[in-house]
Amino acid sequence: MMKKRIKFKKVVAILLCVLSCVCCFACNKRKNEVELNRDFKNVILVIGDGMGENHILNAIDYFDLDLPIFLADQKGYIDTNSLDGLTDSAAGGTALATGVSVYNGNIAQLDGVDLKQITTYAQEANMKTGVITTDSLGGATPSAFSAHAYARSSIVEIINTQVDSGINILIGEEDSNYSNRATWFPAQGYAFARSKEQLVDKKSSEKLMGSIRNVGSQYIPGKEDSYQLKDMAKFAIEYLENDYGFFLMIEGAYIDKYSHNNEYHNAMSEVRSLIDTIEFLYEYASDGETAIFITADHETGGLIRESDKTKMSNELYTTGGHTDVNVPLFVKNYAFDITNFGYLIGEVPKNTIVFEACKSIIYKTNA
Ligand SMILES: [Zn+2]
Repeated sequence: MMKKRIKFKKVVAILLCVLSCVCCFACNKRKNEVELNRDFKNVILVIGDGMGENHILNAIDYFDLDLPIFLADQKGYIDTNSLDGLTDSAAGGTALATGVSVYNGNIAQLDGVDLKQITTYAQEANMKTGVITTDSLGGATPSAFSAHAYARSSIVEIINTQVDSGINILIGEEDSNYSNRATWFPAQGYAFARSKEQLVDKKSSEKLMGSIRNVGSQYIPGKEDSYQLKDMAKFAIEYLENDYGFFLMIEGAYIDKYSHNNEYHNAMSEVRSLIDTIEFLYEYASDGETAIFITADHETGGLIRESDKTKMSNELYTTGGHTDVNVPLFVKNYAFDITNFGYLIGEVPKNTIVFEACKSIIYKTNA
């Protein structure tokens, strides 16, 4: 009798073990299915820093471009104001990256509390993540997606939190704050590149950071041989592609910088460079597996709309600062509907809706 009991216990134990294993498999399977059941494998967010609608329309006329196909995907405008009213790129980037309106200068942080970024949500869904910009990686916009700091000027804090971000690839323009740490980054798990050739050499590294010399628009005199945003985007996408998908933020940073200086030709060149990048991304997304969002963190310069090339000059700027003009939002593939996020038809949503929409794809909520 005793023997039988033990045997029975053994059988139950084995059965339980088998059951729990089956359960485990089922759970894992379900988990994977949820992740792969997203409507879109990849999400790309393109930000033209300081790019209002007039920047885009003027650039098309300035360079006699065919009407870019993404114009047809305009879903309306977004309100860029921060908790201070007129926003800066730190608060603007933070709203897009975290879905939270903050004070100017804050990098993915509010009242001393770190805010969770879309890049972290993506990682939790097993997606790879990337941040690329024509600015330094310590710039406000890339930092908002990859770092946490009370102030955008706290570069050491930004770099220290950036290496803990888990982001797979970060590329920006050369900055001594980064190149001076060329031997420190590998100790933090990041292969470090200072040229596009070094990026290629190190592309098998699990985490890769680039601080690259001569980045920018080839349409600016002296920059003809520069590393183009489009080429950075191509490289980053090849690097990130995997079965679980990726989230990539791409920033054209110099539209803002040149607009602050009212340098019309250079600003238009940077817009053109961004348009070229978007056209490449549209081709890439033509298989329907990738959702693309295109917007700006704010408008810079109060640029006047002018379609006549002969009347275009630095005089089209009305200010050297940011404005609170609503910026356009373009969305490819994803069925964007503001009513899914609590807005009424005709309302101009807050910039935080971009984060909400990206998150809704990653976690398949709302829409
Ligand atoms: Zn600015």
